[in-house]
Amino acid sequence: MSNHSTPLETDWVWTMPNIGTTWCTCGRDPLTGEPLHQVTRPLITRYVLETLGSIPVDMTNKEISLVVLKLWNRQEITPPLADALLASVNAVVGEVQENYPVDTAIAVIKHFSHTVVIRD
Ligand SMILES: [Zn+2]
Repeated sequence: MSNHSTPLETDWVWTMPNIGTTWCTCGRDPLTGEPLHQVTRPLITRYVLETLGSIPVDMTNKEISLVVLKLWNRQEITPPLADALLASVNAVVGEVQENYPVDTAIAVIKHFSHTVVIRD
């Protein structure tokens, strides 16, 4: 399970529907139901750069959390956010690891951004 000598297949994450809270307050397209503004790969990459100062080769769970907080403009990882993040790691990677290739970490953040439900 932890032998990841070949890159993980994460393309599916980039076409998954958004079933969670929308990232911004611009609303959803009335025809498709999709948010008008999606969390895209370039957007996440920009937040990785802004949060960590550079694009790393690998990202730790802590670094993923920091990017998520900045991207979603939150102060802390509350239990519901932690649950959503764990679910996204499991969905994309299959298990929690110490760190992840940056492409995989960005896919985890994308998955989280399409599934997290924020109630406050
Ligand atoms: Zn917007």
